[in-house]
Amino acid sequence: MELEIIELSERKARFVLSGVSAAFANALRRSITSEVPILAIDDVNIYDNTSVLFDEQLALRLGLIPLKADTTKYVSPQECKCEGQGCPLCQVSLTLSAEGPKVMYSGDMISTDPDVRPAEATVPIVELKEKHKVVIEAIARLGTGRSHSKWQAGIASGYKNMPAITVGECDQCGECIKACPRDILELNGNKVEVVDIIDCSICRLCEEACDMNAIKVSEDPESFVMTFETSGSTTAAELAVQAAGSIKKRAEQLGEILETL
Ligand code: SF4
Ligand code: SF4
Ligand SMILES: [Zn+2]
Repeated sequence: MELEIIELSERKARFVLSGVSAAFANALRRSITSEVPILAIDDVNIYDNTSVLFDEQLALRLGLIPLKADTTKYVSPQECKCEGQGCPLCQVSLTLSAEGPKVMYSGDMISTDPDVRPAEATVPIVELKEKHKVVIEAIARLGTGRSHSKWQAGIASGYKNMPAITVGECDQCGECIKACPRDILELNGNKVEVVDIIDCSICRLCEEACDMNAIKVSEDPESFVMTFETSGSTTAAELAVQAAGSIKKRAEQLGEILETL
């Protein structure tokens, strides 16, 4: 297996994964969206709410605010020694108290753990008018995207086969260049060249435009261009490592089960 990183920022990654099957690429995609645990608000105690939002709407909005945290400090309630009763190992409390007139933002939440905070401080929760008041305690717990989208660490995760383009005997008419919606073909001297093969969508419009059957588009069955973003709860690099680790752990668990049969 080979890995070539094309783009890596705090919240986005794009890389070419070669020498693997489509099943493995898909397992990695699913692991990125569903198997990496992150913290999200799971319970809300509402002590006062005279805002225009119902309690349920307020709780829903809070649940969808991505929380940045060092998740290695926490365990899921199902695995915790407290057996789901709730303790500092499996949950963290965030309080929110505000009075109008003002817009209440995610950054107004005060966490009992300074390492747990909203990934963005400027997510608007509700606009409080004169005399409106909200007093809330929110409880965040670990979970995965498999059980609810609020725990989805990776978003916009997808892959495509690595494209391959060859150009044979050609009269340089330029029709394929005009047909390409991605503008990745160009005439260089008397040759048609591909500027950025990774951007090719394998739409094959260039093939259709060529009367000479000179240009051929194919895809490598064992090489994939993968892209994903994070919700902000973790970095793209951490997410990729944890997603791969989750596949390994589950494969080991499967091996252990098979050995007992
Ligand atoms: S397959 Fe589509 S995107 Fe790729 S080079 Fe041909 S026209 Fe452009
Ligand atoms: S359309 Fe065919 S013949 Fe014309 S430039 Fe492209 S590859 Fe060459
Ligand atoms: Zn606990």
